Amino acid sequence: MIITIDGPAGAGKSTIARLLAEKLGVLYVDTGAMYRALTLKILRLNADFEDIERLIEIASGTDIKLKKSEDQSTIVFLDEQDVTGPIRKPEVTNAVFHVAGIARIRDLMVKFQREYARIDSIVMEGRDIGTVVFPQAEKKFYLDAKPLVRARRRNLELKQKGIDINTEDIVKQIEDRDIRDKTRDCGPLKKAEDAIYIDTSDMDIQEVVNCLLAHIKDEEKK
Ligand code: C5P
Repeated sequence: MIITIDGPAGAGKSTIARLLAEKLGVLYVDTGAMYRALTLKILRLNADFEDIERLIEIASGTDIKLKKSEDQSTIVFLDEQDVTGPIRKPEVTNAVFHVAGIARIRDLMVKFQREYARIDSIVMEGRDIGTVVFPQAEKKFYLDAKPLVRARRRNLELKQKGIDINTEDIVKQIEDRDIRDKTRDCGPLKKAEDAIYIDTSDMDIQEVVNCLLAHIKDEEKK
């Protein structure tokens, strides 16, 4: 079974997708981590984000692997090196859009993401999973929440990682990221027509997971 979860930053996708995959005993795939890992490599190489051909060349020669740790969280390997921590840094978050807007890089990522479904049942989360990567998925969800709620969640997450940014700045960053993600030509963030829309603003994590599980059980009864 393929389950897709799309939505904007801070809607709770990663936590929900991980818990859902755990409950169902299937693989969880965080596609944002792949775009982040490639962005980190480009930053480390000091390559010019305007030089599209160079970025595509780097992407073609990059190996990104996602592995499950003992506590079920994802460990991200970039060319065999663990980059789980560094890919969450603000300078990576702020630069991902360069990479995410290049059609040929997205094609590479999509191809790679589809490979996961050949091996196992999966819960995959991102921006274009229900629309581009797996339009045929059995169950699709689109998670959303009010910008202020998303900013507060992001703030908490960053604080736990020792990064302190005020909520207003995060709201601005989130809104900028939403616009970029929703308006790019290739693989924009969009609710698939057959995706179930869930506003998680007033829900806690367990409520959202239970809601998704109920929808999945309905699907299984069909
Ligand atoms: O999900 P996360 O916030 O880690 O994603 C980081 C960025 O990667 C997003 O803002 C988006 O630009 C890009 N992304 C994407 N397509 C995906 C997943 C993430 O373009 N499927």
